[in-house]
Parts: sequence; C-alpha cells; structure tokens
Amino acid sequence: MWKIFLVYFVIFSISILSLSAQKSVDVDGRLQPLLTDFFAKCDAYGIPYNDKLFKLKKIDIVDTLPLSENGSVLGKVERNIDGEIESIIINWVVLLDEEILKVVAFHEFAHHFLEYKHTCQDCNEIMAVQNKSYFAVARDWDNQVEHLFTTSPAYLETIKSSTIVSIDYIN
Ligand SMILES: [Zn+2]
Repeated sequence: MWKIFLVYFVIFSISILSLSAQKSVDVDGRLQPLLTDFFAKCDAYGIPYNDKLFKLKKIDIVDTLPLSENGSVLGKVERNIDGEIESIIINWVVLLDEEILKVVAFHEFAHHFLEYKHTCQDCNEIMAVQNKSYFAVARDWDNQVEHLFTTSPAYLETIKSSTIVSIDYIN
C-alpha cells in the first residue's frame, strides 16, 4: 500500500515541478475577453503573438496610475532596464466605461504585440497619444481596428517577409 502512495507522491511532485517551471503571465480577468479578441485579429492578419505574450509578467488593472483633471494616464507599458516591455497596465478608472476600456486596452496591446509607437498627438485613432473623443473611435470600431492592424509595424513586417518568399519561389 505504501508503495502506491509513494508512486502517487512522486508523480504529484513531478507535476508540481513541471507546472512551476512553465512560464506564466498574469492576466486580469476583466481584460481577458479583450485580449482574446485582439489575438483573434492577430490570427486573422497572420501576426504571431505567443513569444511576445510570454515575455510579459502581467497584463493588469492598477490603481497606481495618475488620475487628475490635467494629467491622467489611462494605460501604460512598463519596461525593464533593457528597454523591453514587461508589463501592460490599465488605469482602473477606465473600467467605468466599456467603450473607453476597449480603446485603451487595444492601444496598449498594440504597443507591445504590433510594435507600435504613437501615430499622432490627437487624431481620433487608436494609436494617438490622446483622443478628444474616445467615443468617436469606439463608434467607428471595425474600421479603426482594421486600420490599426493593417498599418502596424508587425503586420508590415510579415508582409515583407512573405513577399521575399514568393520572389525566391519565382526564381
Ligand atoms: Zn501609447
């Protein structure tokens, strides 16, 4: 009988060890549906995201970002000392409105997964530094998302590499 217990114990310990050896990313459950949506678009445009996902420690809602009349930060990517993005954080206040939440979340996801910098200061685009009206962006959502993905550095990179493959094929 004790042998059976021992075997179970060993199997149990091994599975615990292998679980802890796996990399994991903490994703706030309130952001998970938007992240799933975002990855579905990545799949549709053939943009890889797995490696980038596991470079992150967390994708989180926080109450530590500034919030004031003139200087609110709705979301942010945090970098390590090598300048690589290690977490994506969203200001809790954004949770108050679903439309603003999806614009801010896609904006921050795109910094990391689509390798975006800002496209403008204030031009009613997802990648603007700020937007006078988040609702204008949200109302035009499908077009906004298409524009976001098709003009992204990560997408242009995949197109470039697939073009090179077809030239090689012709030769
Ligand atoms: Zn930004």
